Amino acid sequence: MNRGTIQNVRALLISTYDLGRQPFGLASPAAWLREAGVDVTCIDLSRQQLPEDAVRAAGFIAFFLPMHTATRLALPVIDRVRSLNAGAALCAYGLYASLNASLLRERGVTHIVAGEFEEALRDLAVSPDLDNPRESASRVDPRESAFRENPRESAFRDDPRESAFRDDPRESAFRDDPRESAFRDDPGESAFRDDPRESAFRENPRESAFRENPRESAFRENPRGSASRLEFRIPDRSTLPPLSRYATLQIGDERRVTGYTETSRGCKHRCRHCPIVPVYDGRFRIVPVATVMSDVRAQVEAGARHITFGDPDFFNGIGHATAVLEAFARQVPGVSYDVTIKVEHLIKQAHVLPLLRDTGCAFVTTAVESVDDAVLGRLEKGHTQSDFERVVALFRGIDLALSPTFVPFTPWTTLESYCELLRTIDRLELVDSVAPIQLAIRLLVTEGSRLLELPEIRSLCCRFDMRSLTYPWKHADPRVDALQERIAAAVGIRLKAPRREVFSHVWRLAHEAAGGGALPERRDVRPRTSVPYLNEPWYC
Ligand code: SF4
Repeated sequence: MNRGTIQNVRALLISTYDLGRQPFGLASPAAWLREAGVDVTCIDLSRQQLPEDAVRAAGFIAFFLPMHTATRLALPVIDRVRSLNAGAALCAYGLYASLNASLLRERGVTHIVAGEFEEALRDLAVSPDLDNPRESASRVDPRESAFRENPRESAFRDDPRESAFRDDPRESAFRDDPRESAFRDDPGESAFRDDPRESAFRENPRESAFRENPRESAFRENPRGSASRLEFRIPDRSTLPPLSRYATLQIGDERRVTGYTETSRGCKHRCRHCPIVPVYDGRFRIVPVATVMSDVRAQVEAGARHITFGDPDFFNGIGHATAVLEAFARQVPGVSYDVTIKVEHLIKQAHVLPLLRDTGCAFVTTAVESVDDAVLGRLEKGHTQSDFERVVALFRGIDLALSPTFVPFTPWTTLESYCELLRTIDRLELVDSVAPIQLAIRLLVTEGSRLLELPEIRSLCCRFDMRSLTYPWKHADPRVDALQERIAAAVGIRLKAPRREVFSHVWRLAHEAAGGGALPERRDVRPRTSVPYLNEPWYC
């Protein structure tokens, strides 16, 4: 599309939070809008202040909402933007835009764009009738159904169509309020948190609290974008803060400037607790290798020595993944990377793991979530406890670092099962590999979550809480909630403490809460290891 004649369209793309990364969700649409002749300003409020002059001058202002925390941080910014420029068309895009469409519309957002947002943003920005939003896209493109049922990645692979917060308040807010770690998406959760348990039970906890049909609510507003196919452009990062201002990879005493890109979007799985599912519903999209590598090379030229591939699951398309890795090793030798891959794929594609190691993979994040098979079944994770142990052995066998993540506090957690999780981590000699915050994570029930399909979840959850943007829940055993709060607080005040030290403290708290006499001895006797990690973690 040649939009070179479009003149004087001023667009502002705003990110509030993206896990300490330079926001891909600004760089990618910026390329599309600039190609169309739109005058684009990108603002990352995690590193920059809101430019009031640019807000006043813009005709189109769009907020990137890829996750829970970003959405909560965006709400007061939306209010501020509206007060500065009541005439601008306001848009929200990204996974959590569609999940919270009703709330965002109540705040004055007129356009909601779901998963694949670039083309829709461009069309909105250049539309002559911005005041009359055209909400045309339907939730499911019928052409996609074949891929959903039979997602053969080769078909995708061959088809290229396929601040207010300047001082990074998330970190400091977290330090100030260590209970923040209770949230699933991000330990930072920040200053917008109130006490979810308190707000939850201001209302009658047994009251039917769901906003109509929760599975349909995300699309009640008929958001644009959805999971349609795009011809991806190379992200334009030229006006974003430099990579050196963002989270880095730590390997021992070394800090590596880190870039971020995506080789695919969405996910072919439908885990019950995952926020990707309400938008992509078992579908994923491949970004052509050439596009991925152009973005990687640009970031390496800008100083990156490590790249995070932020795909929800890097092995959703194994042929595409291996092609990317081979190109990566060839084109940017010596640069490391990290990926997120589910346990099920790590087993099924075990023969590819040496390629990861040999092409510079610093670590693999995998969402284990639980070591209780009954809980894993409820979450429809597609793996068991023994699968997880097999993956640990596979990684140890080829000397590749594994970074397991967990959701230890669910409505099905007991004091004993929590202690069993700790004993499993200890027995598998993973204490150095597990970020302490992972020991405190509490299951989030968001709008549109498949968790709300479960009667026990529906009976536990309360009215949707506008501050936390979740359906808060309370454990049937108050001792479990009390333990979660104590562990979250303990972890929060030990952010810089060695992992083993924090784990020992959590071990003591948990076993004391569970009772049963003397504290069991720890087994992990492996020599202390230096496990690579990012300053701000990513959760599947
Ligand atoms: S939790 Fe991971 S594997 Fe499951 S649907 Fe979400 S991204 Fe996919």
